[in-house]
Amino acid sequence: MRTPRNLAMVVLAAALTFSAVGCGNDDKKDDAGAGGKKVEKADLKAGSTMEKLNKAGKVKVGVKFDQPGFGQKDPATGKVAGFDVEIAKIIAARMGIKEESIEFVETVSKNREPFIQEAKVDFVVATYTINDKRKELIAFAGPYYVAGQDIMVKKGNPKAIKAVADLNGKKVCSVKGSTSEKNLKEKAPQATPVLFEKYTECAEELRNDKVDAVTTDNVILIGLIDKAKEDFELVGDKFTDEPYGIGVKKEDTDFRNFINDTLEGIYKDGGWKSAYTGTVGKFVKEVPEPPKVNRY
Ligand code: GLU
Repeated sequence: MRTPRNLAMVVLAAALTFSAVGCGNDDKKDDAGAGGKKVEKADLKAGSTMEKLNKAGKVKVGVKFDQPGFGQKDPATGKVAGFDVEIAKIIAARMGIKEESIEFVETVSKNREPFIQEAKVDFVVATYTINDKRKELIAFAGPYYVAGQDIMVKKGNPKAIKAVADLNGKKVCSVKGSTSEKNLKEKAPQATPVLFEKYTECAEELRNDKVDAVTTDNVILIGLIDKAKEDFELVGDKFTDEPYGIGVKKEDTDFRNFINDTLEGIYKDGGWKSAYTGTVGKFVKEVPEPPKVNRY
């Protein structure tokens, strides 16, 4: 039987354990990932971005706010949801940062590099294609997903657009500063580009017959179509590869390596798969194999 004295000891021991766990900013963390999965202990290197963010207990992440499946803000709750958001939560959790201490900042395609360079955000997870031009300004961890550029038209395809070459002579909407804009110019040089800040603006242009098509990554278009199945459809096959990376400061190799380790961890422990199936996987049923991380 437990005597009052024994009980006091138990309470004291529990209190000590609790304070050791609760004091937080130690180097070793054993937090749960966004999917509720236990993640391995992260070794937060002294003086690194990870250690600084862990000490601060908060992080700013650039995501999209209007791309269903990847980064979509719910106006009613103010919460953002999507695969990119889940990836961001997992990275934050590995740094010992709680979900409610993540500040999600809206990034559009053209301000992602400046937002990283000017430290308006600590990292960007925003359907962000890894390419050499961007690598001159920032660095990428990943890829964690590979999309491909495709074409969205009005339901019934009234302009009979079947492939990228058919965009020549047509008004085609895309977004400033995106690879979609660049690929359109290269692959359909006779098209008239109509450029906006966001793909939802392009969808409105198409709805109002101001443009003949919208072009960007297939998964972004599928997310838009999911919200307007009666209005739009996808045509043709993807005509590029768009490996999505996580943007960090160019010189921050430790942070890049840390994120790459985190990605490899969630490829193995099922965290990647549950993040995918709970978001984009709701409208892209087939679950792809995660791509191999590229430690350049
Ligand atoms: N993945 C492409 C890019 O990074 C197109 C999607 C986007 O604009 O976010 O430019």
